[in-house]
Amino acid sequence: MKHQQDPLPAKGARSRARGEKACRPPKPLLITIDGPAGAGKTTVSRGLAAKLGYRYVDTGALYRAVAHEALRKGISPQDDSNLRRLCAGLKVTLKESPQGLRLMVNRRDITEAIRAPGIAMAASTASAQPSVRAYLLGLQRQLGKKRAAVFEGRDMGTVVFPDADVKFFLDADPRVRAMRRFKEMQHPPHMTLEEVEEEMRQRDHADRSRALAPLKAAPDAIRIDASHLSQEEVIRQMLGYICGGVRK
Ligand code: C5P
Repeated sequence: MKHQQDPLPAKGARSRARGEKACRPPKPLLITIDGPAGAGKTTVSRGLAAKLGYRYVDTGALYRAVAHEALRKGISPQDDSNLRRLCAGLKVTLKESPQGLRLMVNRRDITEAIRAPGIAMAASTASAQPSVRAYLLGLQRQLGKKRAAVFEGRDMGTVVFPDADVKFFLDADPRVRAMRRFKEMQHPPHMTLEEVEEEMRQRDHADRSRALAPLKAAPDAIRIDASHLSQEEVIRQMLGYICGGVRK
């Protein structure tokens, strides 16, 4: 497996709103945020990382990258042995640009392409294959070596970083999650709300029931139900746990 370079912090990630009380942990922390699709992990993780001046790593994008490359080469996301060969030739990097972090695979920019319809389900199927999980486990641990980072995913606190300093598990009511995802989609929407909800239900089921690294909260994770909270309120709660020293 080829090893990848470390992602760079997004420009402005170290800026902090004037007058806001700074939360400065005494040492660089590794923070994990796990949870199902549509719970608001991406916005919250990015916002939390910006407040702390930390790097933000969206690990779902890495699974999507592998799935995207598999589909491009006509490899089934269930074909573990061909996925193994595919991963051996991949170089996945996150590159800073004026538009934010760009996801590169073998020097091709696939940042937008991984959001195309069908990639999420293919990523979920590919993510159940041992070769894909093993490949991305190595890459994610490499990226986490420097700490001072917020990692978002499904198995961050359970498998990838069991020694993380602070672990969160973010969840929300399925209808709220589907609505959020639906609103995020480009207009005109290529899926109805019901289709989004059904896809999410299938993906959640697959992610929670797979044998390898299933989606679940780590026993020492702080659970937050975001059904009735704004993303700013979730970030505020998280900062309270991180800087207020509250662990549970
Ligand atoms: O977060 P996102 O929805 O982009 O993730 C796409 C898929 O990648 C998830 O449905 C899940 O199957 C897989 N994934 C995973 N482990 C992670 C992150 C994502 O299995 N840490």
